[in-house]
Amino acid sequence: MSYKVLIVEDEPSIAELEKDYLELSQIDADIAADGTTGLANALAGDYQLIILDLMLPGMDGFDVLKEIREKKNIPILLVSAKKEEVDKIQGLGLGADDYITKPFSPSELVARVKAHLARYERLVGAAAPANEVVEIRGLKIDKTARRVWINGVEKTFTTKEFDLLLFLATHPNRVFTKTELFEEIWDMQAIGGDTATVTVHIKKIREKIEYDSSKPQYIETIWGVGYRFKV
Ligand code: CA
Repeated sequence: MSYKVLIVEDEPSIAELEKDYLELSQIDADIAADGTTGLANALAGDYQLIILDLMLPGMDGFDVLKEIREKKNIPILLVSAKKEEVDKIQGLGLGADDYITKPFSPSELVARVKAHLARYERLVGAAAPANEVVEIRGLKIDKTARRVWINGVEKTFTTKEFDLLLFLATHPNRVFTKTELFEEIWDMQAIGGDTATVTVHIKKIREKIEYDSSKPQYIETIWGVGYRFKV
């Protein structure tokens, strides 16, 4: 599989450096120098990952992220000069997959990009001959196409929402703690408020798949412990 990445970055020297390092790893990269162009290209182009700077002229990274997430499931790696900006995004449950703070080493960036691409390919199941589908009552999850339907109506999921739902649905009747879920889905060791991210994502998933979020039919809350997918 050949990969193409979109770099949304207004500082030309950083954008070029990122592009050069990615291309050294045989990953093609395009650059968009402002948020509006970045959003348009992200939606129109066939990219497998987006590297998104948060501080952009015109439309900022927050809005770009939000708009992309409404339409696409691809991994998004945030670049920020301030950790607080990233915390704000996570608090909002906006659905970034990872972040890196400036200044960063280009090889670290490339390592992250490669890990996400490999993970994405694994989840998409590029080698599978037919789409792999999980069906539980009215819920249908196409693992290959990363699409979800509830009673025949398709719902849009962010990358992490999808990963989390799929993980739970493929491990039914087992209780997972928020820490376990965070570490499984975010591929990072949970620290401090990270488990709040899980809560936010569960809430979003329920809003999409549950008939009544206060009486969930699929993802149960096990008070004081975590969550369980009921089958
Ligand atoms: Ca910037």
